[in-house]
Amino acid sequence: MINGSCLCGAVKFKISGEPSSLSYCHCSRCRKAAGVFSAVLIGKADDLKVTAGQEKIAKVPTGPEWTLERCFCKECGTSLGDMVTGDIYVVAASALDDDPGIRPTVHIHTKSKPDWYQIDDNLKKFEGDYIPDK
Ligand SMILES: [Zn+2]
Ligand SMILES: [Zn+2]
Repeated sequence: MINGSCLCGAVKFKISGEPSSLSYCHCSRCRKAAGVFSAVLIGKADDLKVTAGQEKIAKVPTGPEWTLERCFCKECGTSLGDMVTGDIYVVAASALDDDPGIRPTVHIHTKSKPDWYQIDDNLKKFEGDYIPDK
C-alpha cells in the first residue's frame, strides 16, 4: 500500500497494487502547477482510493488542448495530479508519503520544457506523451 497526502493533511489517499509507471512530465500544466516539472505516478484507476478530504479536492480544467483536470488541495494548494482519469490514475508523486517502489524511466512532453531547464540524466526523452509498457 502506498500512502499519499497533501501538505496540510486534509486530503489523504491510498494506492494498492503495482503502479505501471513513474515519469517526469515537462508539460506546461506540470510546469505551472507543480514547479519545473512533476513526477507522475500512473496505474489502474481502481487501485486509487481517496480516504479523506474528497470534498477538499479542487479540479481545474486545464485548457482546450487538455481533456484532463488538474487536482489540488483547496486548503494548502498541494498539487495532486489528475487523480482519476478514465481507467487510470495519474497522481503527483510529490504527494506520496511512501516509496512507490518503481523509479522514473522517462521524461515526457519535453517539447514544453522551458529552455532554461536542462535535463541532465540519461533517461529516454519523449517530446509528447508516452506511457511505458508494464
Ligand atoms: Zn491540503
Ligand atoms: Zn505534465
